[in-house]
Amino acid sequence: MATLGNPKNTIEVLQKYKFNFQKKFGQNFLIDTRILEEIIDAAQITKDDFVLEIGPGIGTMTQYLCEAAREVVAVEIDTNLIPILQDTLKEYDNVEVLNQDILKVDINKLAHEKNEDRPIKVVANLPYYITTPIIMGLFESHVPIDSITIMVQKEVADRMQVGPGTKDYGALSLAVQYYAKPEIVVNVPPSCFMPQPKVGSAVIRLTRHAKPPVDVEDEKLMFQVIRGSFNQRRKTLANGLNNYGGIPLSKELIQESIEELGVPVNIRGEALTLEQFARLSNIIKKKL
Ligand code: SAM
Repeated sequence: MATLGNPKNTIEVLQKYKFNFQKKFGQNFLIDTRILEEIIDAAQITKDDFVLEIGPGIGTMTQYLCEAAREVVAVEIDTNLIPILQDTLKEYDNVEVLNQDILKVDINKLAHEKNEDRPIKVVANLPYYITTPIIMGLFESHVPIDSITIMVQKEVADRMQVGPGTKDYGALSLAVQYYAKPEIVVNVPPSCFMPQPKVGSAVIRLTRHAKPPVDVEDEKLMFQVIRGSFNQRRKTLANGLNNYGGIPLSKELIQESIEELGVPVNIRGEALTLEQFARLSNIIKKKL
């Protein structure tokens, strides 16, 4: 039975092991059972599933995951948490804890060995400084993923979900929406954590698309075009792309490509939809 997830039991474990929070690892542990239950519900885990948990902390969410899933691998960077996890997870025989940096783990290999290359589910309450590299790494390395259910900074969750014409719209929104359907599950105030973070958080579920929602001939080029467009937000799309080193086209050919897309040449990148970025990159590809 899951026993952590409330302030009293969490404090007891922390005191028993004289645990000191490490700021550099972004350690804010969840102490709210309602939020934990919402995360597990949103992740739609069944006894058939293999789940990768990133950053288990003292094992609060891991206990819930072990109850719901067939098998869990939890990757924790902080060596001081390993003896605690051995204690808090001792009654579960379907969990393996790896004392590693998630950015150095071969997740494709893990999915192959643990789940015969079938799509895995990822659940995490991430340290905020590695949110983007982890999510993009999971998508770009083509790990077989069913969904990623993660706690992130509220502002980052908003950025993943919005469309054109809003201030939060940018390269992260487009990248996430190319690979997955983002849905904010619940907003989580600082009081649900120990210690309390300075910013609000949100749980977001990213459900991987079976097939990308747009036709792109060259994914890498499309992401270059996106990066170039948002590189200098206040500039027009044409100037942004022209000043960005990644696209070897003359200013005239860039303008011609934008005209072919059927939008005004002085448009800004933040006004384009994912579908328009895909078409623009297909047009540019033909001119390279
Ligand atoms: N999941 C726990 C919870 O909800 O209470 C802990 C969440 S805490 C925000 C983030 C956890 O990720 C910490 O336990 C931290 O040590 C771990 N962590 C930080 N960087 C990591 C990395 N690069 N690889 C694996 N774990 C990491």
